[in-house]
Amino acid sequence: MADLIKLTAAETAAKIASGELTAVEVTEAHLARIESVDEKVNAFLHVDREGALAQARAVDEKRERGEELGPLAGVPLALKDIFTTEGVPTTVGSKILEGWIPPYDATLTKKLKEADVVILGKTNMDEFAMGSSTENSAYGPTGNPWDLTRIPGGSGGGSAAALAAYEAPLAIGTDTGGSIRQPAAMTATVGVKPTYGAVSRYGMVAFSSSLDQGGPCARTVLDAALLHAVIAGHDELDSTSVDQPVPDVVGAAREGQVRGLRVGVVKEFRGEGFQDGVMQRFDESVELLREQGAEIVELSCPSFEKAVSAYYLIAPSECSSNLARFDALRYGLRVGDDGTHSAEEVTALSREEGFGPEVKRRVMLGTYALSSGYYDAYYGSAQKVRTLIARDFEKSFEQVDVIVSPTAPTTAFPIGERADDPVAMYLSDLCTIPANLAGNAAMSIPCGLAPEDGLPVGLQIVAPAMADDRLYRVGAAVEAAFEARWGHPLLEEAPSL
Ligand code: GLN
Repeated sequence: MADLIKLTAAETAAKIASGELTAVEVTEAHLARIESVDEKVNAFLHVDREGALAQARAVDEKRERGEELGPLAGVPLALKDIFTTEGVPTTVGSKILEGWIPPYDATLTKKLKEADVVILGKTNMDEFAMGSSTENSAYGPTGNPWDLTRIPGGSGGGSAAALAAYEAPLAIGTDTGGSIRQPAAMTATVGVKPTYGAVSRYGMVAFSSSLDQGGPCARTVLDAALLHAVIAGHDELDSTSVDQPVPDVVGAAREGQVRGLRVGVVKEFRGEGFQDGVMQRFDESVELLREQGAEIVELSCPSFEKAVSAYYLIAPSECSSNLARFDALRYGLRVGDDGTHSAEEVTALSREEGFGPEVKRRVMLGTYALSSGYYDAYYGSAQKVRTLIARDFEKSFEQVDVIVSPTAPTTAFPIGERADDPVAMYLSDLCTIPANLAGNAAMSIPCGLAPEDGLPVGLQIVAPAMADDRLYRVGAAVEAAFEARWGHPLLEEAPSL
């Protein structure tokens, strides 16, 4: 049983397909693991035991009938609680949606079900995906399986922690400014933000629509690729969905090589705020890429320094508009509906009680930035910076095939440390935000543990839009080289819970 939960998704699927394991057996093992550790980790907001077992039984029956199984059939997955799931609660980590049962599946949920992936339940997250530590969840923080007193990253801390704690071999996250990649870095897992528009946003609760992107999370690069192939693709229900073939990410992950590849290192991502051990592991990763035959090119991307400032105008502006739909009249929490209050008062009372402090801060910031008289000075300037950042990437990708950097400037910090300091929290996403602003594809893979605290460090790889396959080609090569040298940080040196 203990070994079963440590298998990769690819191995699990192969064993189910060959009949060595049943999907029910695999699902039960993960449900038992959740039962035994999740009280401590708090990765899950909702476990759908019955739904998961029903899905698993359907896979086993399919196999018995001799029907062909998809590449991830019967593999359990932890779904971020931002995707709607028909008949299963979806809270976005917020009290405002407590008790809401969506009547429909997000496109991503539907695709997972069609691929016979077993959805174990919904994972914890910062409220409305706003945060870098999962401390902004209305349902309590998630612990980092490497050290439960530390944050697992955010906003998708629940999904990353579920992987690191062996509660699921696959997970789904969303990344607006780093919420897939930064938690991956904090937990020694793999997280991918696909090209903007590559994975449908239909049924994914909106935070900042021009930045939000769902993507795969796993413990290995190949597993992430297999999941990527399941969830990506054009969707008529999402007007920003890319109508182009999905790059061959699985083929690239299987190939995994960097010989002759030009790899850019951004000189601005270094210096103040970057932890020594993080930079040490990053520099070793660059050396390793060189040894594997990559050509290293130093790049300057001066606009990246303004990325966090631009992001904290654009994301709050879009969120102030997106969150206006939570008016207590249609769904979710309703406060003061006792006949003594007007509809406007019910809306105000419900939003007052239903939203947490970070969400309120952002709605206020965004409303201010968009108000007449300030629009050009704030929102308009931020959009110009966004263009400059996209140009820095374009110029860089004339010289290199991919860009690498640390995923986050530090390792996982203690729960509570940055809770009262929003700006310190915002800086966690220094290295990840530029790819969201430009719409590029980006990945984080584990690159060892920082010597000073023994905590995971992430290596970020960024590729041009629609070149997601490059991430997997490079990621798999680096992963294999690291494994040959140190062993996989999670598969071998699992955090003890
Ligand atoms: N930490 C960033 C924020 O708070 C990014 C969040 C995300 O990617 N969803 O907005």
